[in-house]
Amino acid sequence: RPNSLSFIGLGRMGSQMAYNLFSKRFAAAKDSHFVVCDAVPDAANRFRDNFLHEFPGANMSIAPSPEQAIIASQTVVTMLPSSPHVRRVYLESGGLVPTLRMLTDEQVKSTFLIDSTTLDVQVGREVASETRKTGAEMIDAPVSGGVTGAKAGTLSFLVGGTEDAFQLARPILERMGARIIHCGASGSGLAAKICNNLVLGVEQIVVAEAMLLGQRLGLDPTVLAGVINSSTGGCWSSSVNNPVAGALADKSPPSDRDYEGGFATSLMIKDMGLATAVGETAGSPLPLAEAAESVYQASVTRYPELGNKDFSSVYKYLKQAAEE
Ligand code: NAD
Repeated sequence: RPNSLSFIGLGRMGSQMAYNLFSKRFAAAKDSHFVVCDAVPDAANRFRDNFLHEFPGANMSIAPSPEQAIIASQTVVTMLPSSPHVRRVYLESGGLVPTLRMLTDEQVKSTFLIDSTTLDVQVGREVASETRKTGAEMIDAPVSGGVTGAKAGTLSFLVGGTEDAFQLARPILERMGARIIHCGASGSGLAAKICNNLVLGVEQIVVAEAMLLGQRLGLDPTVLAGVINSSTGGCWSSSVNNPVAGALADKSPPSDRDYEGGFATSLMIKDMGLATAVGETAGSPLPLAEAAESVYQASVTRYPELGNKDFSSVYKYLKQAAEE
């Protein structure tokens, strides 16, 4: 176990993060053992085959379940879609927490769990509390930076947990990210992530509205993007993730690839839902989050294929509506 790392959830983000974590660890310690686990066996097989092709000497195995992943390793990173998946992997029978209860005290004390999923703050806190009751340590460490940042190893990690756990996590997270920010106690990383995505989700829609309106008023989208990006309306959704194909001469956002890659609209709907739910519990009004959630939802109801495309494809939905 001591020299072993497990990664559970090898999707769009997890596969890139695991690659960086394992390849950098392998470069530093050739005797490390790596374990990968995914509910879709092909995802784990593909990752292992590609990794071993590039690093033929690496010791990598596939865990058929979270139980096997934690038995094998004292450090486990999870990167799953959302709350139900995290509950399943951590709390249900055959999950990480029930398995921890079967390990020796010494094994449990040396176990460190990092969850990078974006999920409900309350569920995240509950899972961390159940994990810590066993004697193991856990942090929430959701990320910002998208698939591009995951690939480049430049993600921002927003960490919730004790100062000791944060220090323990830092060298691991530094292999996958460029900025590691301690946001506060357990659940604080998730709270910060949800607030950031609330801004992003609203911002992307209003940029799409402005880009569409400008064109209908006769503006060239490249000129308009240039104006917004050098004026007070400038923001990531316009300068990096501009929703109009060809509007950014020097960048290649998902809109240039019919919105392939990037951050799926279905995940943004999930994040807007996380914000509105937690807003209700915290007594914080979120009129724009509610409106944005319903706009994304309407776009996917109307065009189901947009669910899997980048959330900037909301522009396509607005454009079609304008043309009808
Ligand atoms: P994804 O759907 O591509 O990947 C999730 C992976 O988890 C899949 O491979 C799936 O098979 C696996 N999985 C699901 N249930 C499992 C289980 N019970 N056991 C083992 N594996 C299981 O999602 P993603 O785009 O990689 O996003 C992951 C998380 O990161 C989400 O919470 C998302 O909100 C967040 N996030 C995504 C982005 C982005 O740009 N894609 C950016 C920042 C944060």
